[in-house]
Amino acid sequence: MDSLLSQLTAGNVVLDLGCGYGSFHYEAYPFRTLATDLHLPDELLKIRRPGVEYFQADSNTIPLRNESVDAVICHNTLEHFAAYEETLSEIRRVLKPNGWLWIAVPNGDGLDDRLYRFVFEGGGHVNRFTFNGLVEKVQTITGLSLVQACDLFSSFVFLAKPTPERAAGFPRTAHFLLAVPEEFHRFAVIALNTVTRLADKALGSHYSLYGWGFVFAHQRPALPLPSFFNVCRQCGSGCAETHIQHFRKGVFGMRPYECPHCGELNVFVRPPTGHL
Ligand SMILES: [Zn+2]
Repeated sequence: MDSLLSQLTAGNVVLDLGCGYGSFHYEAYPFRTLATDLHLPDELLKIRRPGVEYFQADSNTIPLRNESVDAVICHNTLEHFAAYEETLSEIRRVLKPNGWLWIAVPNGDGLDDRLYRFVFEGGGHVNRFTFNGLVEKVQTITGLSLVQACDLFSSFVFLAKPTPERAAGFPRTAHFLLAVPEEFHRFAVIALNTVTRLADKALGSHYSLYGWGFVFAHQRPALPLPSFFNVCRQCGSGCAETHIQHFRKGVFGMRPYECPHCGELNVFVRPPTGHL
């Protein structure tokens, strides 16, 4: 997504649909960002930043003019929208003819999504998508074509130890995340990430696959869309081998490293072909 956004310029407008606290780092780009969600905390609505505008809206009735935005970002949101087909119709309406649409969704049959729904009593996920099912639906409703897609790998980041304030908003089933001792918790999440990646590499399974990222447009974007096999368990950033400055001593090809973005300890497993 970031490589695509970096092609946009100051005159462009991007709609972050279901933005939460932001699907990308708004200040890093020169274009105007419209960030919307059904409900937004007061602290975001009060923010006055050049080039960023927050507003509350239902994604099925987006209060924007026809053909007024250059790109729409639906980053891990469509699985939360009960009437997502209506949202796709609205995207078709507000997107300029040469605009593009980014969608990231979890694999509805994947381990990550199943575990997330189990721990968080559904966690607000009301749709289960398959790769082909989603592509067909988006193409039919928006009139756009799939021009690029990539695999998104899990880091089981939702299992990270929460703060007591954050855990207070969790369902009862997820309260154990706060109760588990810190060191055991850390070990368990690192082990889950490592074991799923080793299994996928050895068996060709997809236990570490989170879901997919898609770009829909009328024309093919020029930039490649990388898939990062190793993803930080704490911050969710993808880590290519070449981005890691220093590996600790490891065993059986598994090399511990500190995430270049947040500094947390992870275990690197060399990716299968086709991924970074
Ligand atoms: Zn990190």
